[in-house]
Amino acid sequence: MDARTLKEGIVSGRLDADALNASFADLHAPLGDHEALVATDRCYFCHDAPCITACPTDIDIPLFIRQIATGTPEAAAKTILTQNILGGMCARVCPTETLCEEACVREAAEGEPVRIGRLQRYATDTLMAQGVHPFSRAAPTGKRIAVVGAGPAGLACAHRLAMYGHDVVVFDARPKPGGLNEYGIAAYKSTEDFAAREVEWLLQIGGIEIRTDMALGRDVTMDDLQGAYDALFLGMGLGGVNALTAPGADKDGVLDAVDFIADLRQATDLSTLPVGRDVVVIGGGMTAVDAAVQSKLLGALNVTMVYRRGRDRMNASVWEQDLASAKGVRIITNAAPVAVHGNGSVREIEFEFTDDDLNPTGQTFRLAADQVFKAIGQTLSGEDLPDLDGRKIAVTGPGRTSVAGVWAGGDCASGGDDLTVTAVAEGRDAAEDIHAALMRA
Ligand SMILES: Cc1cc2nc3c(=O)[nH]c(=O)nc-3n(C[C@H](O)[C@H](O)[C@H](O)COP(=O)(O)OP(=O)(O)OC[C@H]3O[C@@H](n4cnc5c(N)ncnc54)[C@H](O)[C@@H]3O)c2cc1C
Ligand code: SF4
Repeated sequence: MDARTLKEGIVSGRLDADALNASFADLHAPLGDHEALVATDRCYFCHDAPCITACPTDIDIPLFIRQIATGTPEAAAKTILTQNILGGMCARVCPTETLCEEACVREAAEGEPVRIGRLQRYATDTLMAQGVHPFSRAAPTGKRIAVVGAGPAGLACAHRLAMYGHDVVVFDARPKPGGLNEYGIAAYKSTEDFAAREVEWLLQIGGIEIRTDMALGRDVTMDDLQGAYDALFLGMGLGGVNALTAPGADKDGVLDAVDFIADLRQATDLSTLPVGRDVVVIGGGMTAVDAAVQSKLLGALNVTMVYRRGRDRMNASVWEQDLASAKGVRIITNAAPVAVHGNGSVREIEFEFTDDDLNPTGQTFRLAADQVFKAIGQTLSGEDLPDLDGRKIAVTGPGRTSVAGVWAGGDCASGGDDLTVTAVAEGRDAAEDIHAALMRA
């Protein structure tokens, strides 16, 4: 341990470039040809395969595994991409341990599933490396559709509509498309600018125009879009973040985890990115794990994740929790923040233990902290939106909102898990419904 690691405060350069490159390398190295063949050999090609049912995009998993086994990974990729146009990113970020691989019969029998996610990546990477886009556009329909949000939901919707021959304009508030694939997913899950390369590849279908730095509510209104287009899809994700109400939460050094993660994803040189020596992350979801693990990888000395409920209630999967522990993150459960202490900047954060019903127990403790990340949930932001169900846009069936001609999907819409793969499925299904509605009209 050297002086840089021990230095107090929020500082850059705790680790040198070589150490950072090693820390942020691809979490799972891609399978080679032989490894992929060996992995396919474990599949039973089950009839009524439970892995298909467990996949939110219903990919025909035994079929694509057989296609890899028979030496046609490009055909396997087409099987995947037909159901999930962001199959490359999903192969990197899906919590397969709670989806297809959890359902795999070999997981139940032997505690070792077929490596579906890694095989999916092998197939999609093979095809994308050839620069091939395996879909083409149908004859133009003359219909124009506006999509708000160039995240997984918006991109999946836009691609399916373009395939049907519609013209699509995607509006996104940020300077780059990709949504959380570009600004949120942990850097070690999406290396070598994969998010941007995948968007570029997806756009090869043609018929999709992306307008960045264009926010609904700021640069364009719902009325504008409903007036100018034949249909509207809302896929703007959850742009707001929940506030921390503990006294002192406005002190310097108390930050939103999603902002830290976005800065990290956009940094060209990670050694310039400042991080605390004693970092505390509040929350129990994927965002909390990602902020904690990446702080540690940037060289923070002590990183502690604190969650108000038990481990079994965490949104982060057991696999993600184990990853955090393996990287040296301490996890404290059943504790809620009650005060942030410090003179201007945070020095300590105080927690109170809670029981299983979140009742305070009166037992408190303090953690030294020069940086605190809030990862306590995101919220929908925007005005003049269709009716809400709780804190999201209410949808029925394939993303129909309370307003005729307006569909929604992904994190901003009710129902479904807040996952990349779910957003893709919802965007795709809404596109199918939009297409059917426009062709009936
Ligand atoms: C830190 C973090 C890590 C995650 N890790 C994983 C993971 O490992 N695996 C996984 O499956 N899921 C993960 N998720 C969840 C996953 O990223 C989301 O479920 C998914 O991105 C949702 O897609 P979306 O298209 O609905 O929204 P988003 O990806 O949020 O995209 C919405 C887009 O809309 C744009 N937008 C917002 N407001 C407006 C507006 N007013 N006008 C125009 N455009 C607007 C945004 O700029 C953005 O580009 C993670 C989430 C976070 C926050
Ligand atoms: S459940 Fe497992 S063994 Fe059966 S088809 Fe799916 S991946 Fe293959």
